[in-house]
Amino acid sequence: MAKIIDGKQFAADLRGKMTTQIASLKEQHNIVPGLAVVLVGEDPASQVYVRNKGKQAKECGINSIEHKLDESTDEAFLLNLIDEMNQDPAINGILVQLPLPKHIDSDKVLNAIDPAKDVDGFHPINVGLLSTGGKGMIPCTPLGSLMMLQDYHGDLTGMNAVVVGRSNIVGKPMFNLLLQQSCTVTVAHSRTKNIEEVVREADIVVAAVGVPELVKGSWIKPGATVIDVGINRIETDEGKTKLVGDVEFESAVEVAGAITPVPGGVGPMTIACLLYNTMVAACRHNNVDMPEA
Ligand code: NDP
Repeated sequence: MAKIIDGKQFAADLRGKMTTQIASLKEQHNIVPGLAVVLVGEDPASQVYVRNKGKQAKECGINSIEHKLDESTDEAFLLNLIDEMNQDPAINGILVQLPLPKHIDSDKVLNAIDPAKDVDGFHPINVGLLSTGGKGMIPCTPLGSLMMLQDYHGDLTGMNAVVVGRSNIVGKPMFNLLLQQSCTVTVAHSRTKNIEEVVREADIVVAAVGVPELVKGSWIKPGATVIDVGINRIETDEGKTKLVGDVEFESAVEVAGAITPVPGGVGPMTIACLLYNTMVAACRHNNVDMPEA
């Protein structure tokens, strides 16, 4: 039976450490990290995410600023707001909640964010810095997944990792992060042949597919570590709904050495890493070392 990697606890511990670090930033340097979150429209899921981000940011001592804009907000207004926030020294992180309404060009908006304040790590400059090993901002979900892997394994050098999924927000940055840690990395996707056999070679499996329970226990090498990034809401036989990952937990937990559950695995780490990136950005902007936890 696999060890369950408790992402909820890991995220709570990380926030606890950050609270201490942010308190010493204030005490020693009078720095209060600032995170601006922009929400356009009324998407209910986005409203919940934004609320949680703001609440957790405040709990850690981050100054959280929310811009809730009407669905009809035009692109020029949004670009102007981003420009103002880029110039504002009190704001270290800018996050534009996706999806944006259809009349707004998301790429144009995301690319307008100062890369040094791009706490989501989606700006092409940060994508480039990650792939060349530079000092950019790292996307939150892959960063949280890596932190849990490093906590469990220590050094990842030489391990065989398979990332299932090649999206810009999860699969590709995860590939780069694992490569930086000297893993031998394979990226599988919808066109991969014999995917079960490819996955069965892995010491580390990261599943970011968006297909409920695609990866079965029979695909997993005994003792492998499984990071399930997927969040899928499915209907149960009783007509209710529940969240499942991209891995079939019941069968995988019997074979894996360690596994993240859904919910309570990667999900909580994503927000914690957004706050972590905001703290990192605040230290860089003010040219100070990150305080000890
Ligand atoms: P995308 O839809 O952008 O990418 C999915 C990837 O999976 C694609 O590369 C696709 O391949 C591949 N894929 C799809 N079907 C298969 C298949 N049958 N076999 C192999 N590969 C397949 O998804 P995201 O990366 O944005 O998200 C992935 C999952 O992670 C989702 O469940 C999402 O909800 C979740 N997520 C969770 C987060 C968290 O905080 N925990 C944050 C972000 C995402 P191809 O490129 O060939 O089409």
